[in-house]
Amino acid sequence: ASLALNKAKMQEDTPIHYFEPHMLEASLEKTRLAAELNRALEHNELEVHFQPLIDLASETTCGAEALVRWRSPTRGLVPPNQFIPLAEENGMIIEMGQQILRLACQQTSQMIARQQWPQSFMLHVNLSVRQLLQADFVEQVEAILAESGLLAANLTLEITESRLISQPQQATEALQQLRQLGIHIAIDDFGTGYSSLSYLAQLPFDSLKIDRSFVNQMTESNNYTPVIAAIITLAENFNADIVAEGVETREQTQQLKALGCRYAQGFYYAKPQPLSEWSTAKVSSNPVSADTDNYQH
Ligand code: C2E
Ligand code: MG
Ligand code: MG
Ligand code: MG
Repeated sequence: ASLALNKAKMQEDTPIHYFEPHMLEASLEKTRLAAELNRALEHNELEVHFQPLIDLASETTCGAEALVRWRSPTRGLVPPNQFIPLAEENGMIIEMGQQILRLACQQTSQMIARQQWPQSFMLHVNLSVRQLLQADFVEQVEAILAESGLLAANLTLEITESRLISQPQQATEALQQLRQLGIHIAIDDFGTGYSSLSYLAQLPFDSLKIDRSFVNQMTESNNYTPVIAAIITLAENFNADIVAEGVETREQTQQLKALGCRYAQGFYYAKPQPLSEWSTAKVSSNPVSADTDNYQH
């Protein structure tokens, strides 16, 4: 009886989350996943897929975004949303991000050396703020460029604006140092964060990537067209390039072109794919990779 009384009293003061079986299951799964990810990093189970970046004026491939995939012996090919959040939480993202950057730079450098990709090819790699905030991050990037042979001018690092807000000063300084090396900075998922325009003005960046959610809804409701037009104007005023993410239809590409958007990425052109399957099927008269069969993975 006194137990029940205690329980009732506690419920008045603080919300108590009683333990339920599904919580145990979830926490066990998290522990299991962390252990498997740790092994994945040791056994090089991460791979990089590349999604073509299209220059809308010529409809040719001018670069690619590297997107991590985990080839797990037990789970199969795992997409990033199933392990990046945990890796961000437990800090594994730092080692993971370094492996991905190294792989992406090595593979791109080889493709350029074999003249499969042009000298001007732009590799985009996603960055976690936790990576950026490491004291020696800029040196790490320099070392990876040196060992892979990729030039800084061929690399764009993508960072999500909303995640930068935690340590704006430190993040801005690191981004400035990266730019001094000749690396480009892209603000990813632009428009979904809550940062102010005055904050944007302090951020060093070379391009804005319009979030997929805007592009998706562009043709369904006209409300989004002025938003995209405004983002494009904003980018122009910052002297930045603009990339539309998640382009899935021909109408979207036409509308984006009419609005002055220069670059696009999306399933309409190509899905992310391993280099062994690299092709740009919908890209007409593509000088970059018309033939996908003449190299070994
Ligand atoms: P993101 O950087 O915004 O990457 C774009 C995501 O949109 C990719 O999902 C891509 O496959 C997807 N996408 C591209 N075009 C279309 C389209 O036309 N329609 C639809 N529905 N989706 C499209 P993915 O590969 O699952 O990656 C999800 C997110 O995971 C990325 O979003 C990025 O935030 C994160 N991520 C991926 N790779 C890395 C990495 O190496 N490091 C870090 N830190 N994060 C990564
Ligand atoms: Mg990205
Ligand atoms: Mg994005
Ligand atoms: Mg996105």
